[in-house]
Amino acid sequence: MELVMNSEEMKAAQDYVNNVYETVKKRNPNEDEFLQAVKEIFQSLVPVFAKSPKYMEHNILERIVEPERLITFRIPWVDDQGKVQVNRGFRVQFSSAIGPYKGGLRFHPTVNASIIKFLGFEQIFKNALTGQAIGGGKGGSDFNPRGKSEGEVMRFTQSFMTELCKYIGPDTDVPAGDIGVGAREIGYMFGQYKRLTGRFDAGVLTGKGVGYGGSLVRTEATGYGTVYFVEEMLRDQGLTFSGSTVVISGSGNVSIYAIDKAQEYGAKVLACSDSDGYIYDENGICLDTVKRLKEVERARISDYVKEHPHAQYFEGSTGIWTIPCDIALPCATQNEINEQSAKTLVANGVKAVGEGANMPSTLEAIDVFLENRVLFAPGKAANAGGVAVSALEMAQNSSRVSWSFEKVDRKLKHIMKDIYRNSINAAEEYGYPGNLVVGSNVAGFLRVADAMIMQGVV
Ligand code: NDP
Repeated sequence: MELVMNSEEMKAAQDYVNNVYETVKKRNPNEDEFLQAVKEIFQSLVPVFAKSPKYMEHNILERIVEPERLITFRIPWVDDQGKVQVNRGFRVQFSSAIGPYKGGLRFHPTVNASIIKFLGFEQIFKNALTGQAIGGGKGGSDFNPRGKSEGEVMRFTQSFMTELCKYIGPDTDVPAGDIGVGAREIGYMFGQYKRLTGRFDAGVLTGKGVGYGGSLVRTEATGYGTVYFVEEMLRDQGLTFSGSTVVISGSGNVSIYAIDKAQEYGAKVLACSDSDGYIYDENGICLDTVKRLKEVERARISDYVKEHPHAQYFEGSTGIWTIPCDIALPCATQNEINEQSAKTLVANGVKAVGEGANMPSTLEAIDVFLENRVLFAPGKAANAGGVAVSALEMAQNSSRVSWSFEKVDRKLKHIMKDIYRNSINAAEEYGYPGNLVVGSNVAGFLRVADAMIMQGVV
């Protein structure tokens, strides 16, 4: 995304950003995903530095981009054949400027330092946007849950927590789920943490089962929140989900509840996917089937067509973006929409794209959307509903109360509306009206940067 330079201040700000980015590149070689996330955020902050040079004087950028702490550790465990396996664990405690570190754990074979750092860096700004007192963190492991038995998942997860427990706590760092980590894994981790510490620290993890300290709506929060955010963005342009066709990638936690809310809002969801391929159902996806296949049977999305023979299954997950639709919600993984897929979506008439996943669009794809005036909701704003309800879970845990579904859902909706409003206002104020990439980055950054200045050089 090229921002237009129009003054000496903008030139000085651009030089500052370029210099810091070069340092980051040298310090973090071969970390493509991390550098991609840094580049997007840095570039959109140029107008902030031009308008308020104090952030350059305090060198906020160079400080915020260096994690406060990056922990890596060994996770030994024994598989069902009695063989010792070893995985690598990570926790990045990126920023505690506005609250305890907060961010999910991902179990996926692609996990490495670059992925965890990109997610942790994004999380700082996302968490700030929610208006709640939560800093930025992220973690996970290169463990692949696919094909593992229940016993293997439990033994691995317990070993993971045996090391992680040294670094987390309700006022220090509060992990949650992400790809490959759902209610089952959070349950095993909570059990192991409790056993190791001898304390029932309900607030040490979020995404817990509702029976032992979890919050209602946490499971639905990211998917619902994404749809609430996108509906707000559509409404500003006189559009709505109702009567629209929608394509939603993935079939995990975020996708399932995005499908749920989009359908409730009157949209027809034509397709969803997993990492092997996608299904197209011209009648609209049957969510009950997807939920059972994925949440209960842990099956593949290809099995959908066995029960719905009129639907079609296609190998390869990225083909999903060739389906014409009004609204696209990428809810699977990073970089799932590249420049070509973005061009195809635009050629097929897409009106809005809302990122349920983290960084699902490449920088080039975002440019294609913005240049073609597609309404674009970046992940750090649109998918902030998950962490927002996690913070509500922490609030309920510390006050030992449980709120009703309606109450949490109402709060979630308000938070998503506020994030939209604050982002769109920041975009306007900094000279990029309607650009939610700039708006969300700026709004999130200002809150964290001001806290950093107030707390001195730490
Ligand atoms: P899940 O593990 O529940 O689901 C992930 C889904 O994406 C699965 O259907 C998976 O398919 C699919 N997927 C994974 N990798 C690929 C790939 N390379 N190509 C196509 N599909 C793929 O994870 P979540 O739903 O929790 O997370 C999805 C995204 O949302 C991630 O980017 C995550 O960081 C982000 N997010 C999640 C939040 C949450 O609260 N859970 C909060 C904010 C953001 P398969 O089963 O084949 O692996």
